[in-house]
Amino acid sequence: MNCFQHPAAVAVGICKNCHRGVCSDCAAPAPNGLACRGRCEAEVEALDQIVQRSKTAYAKAAGLYQRGAYVLAAFGFFFLAYGVLSPGANTFFLVMGAVMFAGAVFQYRSAQRYAADNDIPAPRVRGPQGP
Ligand SMILES: [Zn+2]
Ligand SMILES: [Zn+2]
Repeated sequence: MNCFQHPAAVAVGICKNCHRGVCSDCAAPAPNGLACRGRCEAEVEALDQIVQRSKTAYAKAAGLYQRGAYVLAAFGFFFLAYGVLSPGANTFFLVMGAVMFAGAVFQYRSAQRYAADNDIPAPRVRGPQGP
């Protein structure tokens, strides 16, 4: 493959934006690749920023799911406790507590999946004994 601007020159890589071959004179270093000097540099930079931003968004989503899981688990615990402690055991609260616990597990799994899918570290989980 040769440079698209200099047919005689051998391409050293492919531009991340226009996917054409560029020689060492035309190639500008870009985040995770090359860009056409003066032509695609800005686009490649913008592209990289979008990727970085979406990674942050995924991390935030994972964190949100995890917090949701804790809140649901806490509510589930209170509902279960209330259901067990109320005279004659309150079935409604027992069922609600179980449903909330199930939701907590589901949300926790979603958080883990979000983190795994996007190759970002999972939000840190504190054990019952604390840090
Ligand atoms: Zn280009
Ligand atoms: Zn060139």
